[in-house]
Amino acid sequence: MYPKAHFQKAETAGHCSYQLLIHVEKTAPIEIGALGRHRFDQGWYLYTGSARRNLNARLSRHLRKNKKLRWHIDYLLSAPSARVVAVFTSSIGECRWNQSVKGRVTTPRFGASDCKDGCGAHLKRITENTAKRLLAQKRRKTLCFKIEKMGRS
Ligand SMILES: [Zn+2]
Repeated sequence: MYPKAHFQKAETAGHCSYQLLIHVEKTAPIEIGALGRHRFDQGWYLYTGSARRNLNARLSRHLRKNKKLRWHIDYLLSAPSARVVAVFTSSIGECRWNQSVKGRVTTPRFGASDCKDGCGAHLKRITENTAKRLLAQKRRKTLCFKIEKMGRS
């Protein structure tokens, strides 16, 4: 489990949007709530979300394995093969940030129930190169938190 203060810096910076860099270690079907079972190929995914308030608590929640499954992302992250490798936060608008990332939608409507900007999904499959580029980026107004290990609480 991560200390509560882990993402405090993002909240202090006034960030509302976040991206989770996710690695799926093994190809497997995963049940995504009402979206049903979807095949997730081994590889890299990027999820974009936002929290107007309590960003710190939201991000800490994403890292916990055991929780009541509520959002599509909860279902994906509860799979044993899925791991959050890094968290990025920013003040960029959620949809604009999502659309700026090159990737492929593999699960239509994932995380986009409330999206009014035509994203199609707020989860994208990205290449390893894109994942590496995201990890190496030094953008102003974006914070990067590398996650050592998935929380177990
Ligand atoms: Zn959107």
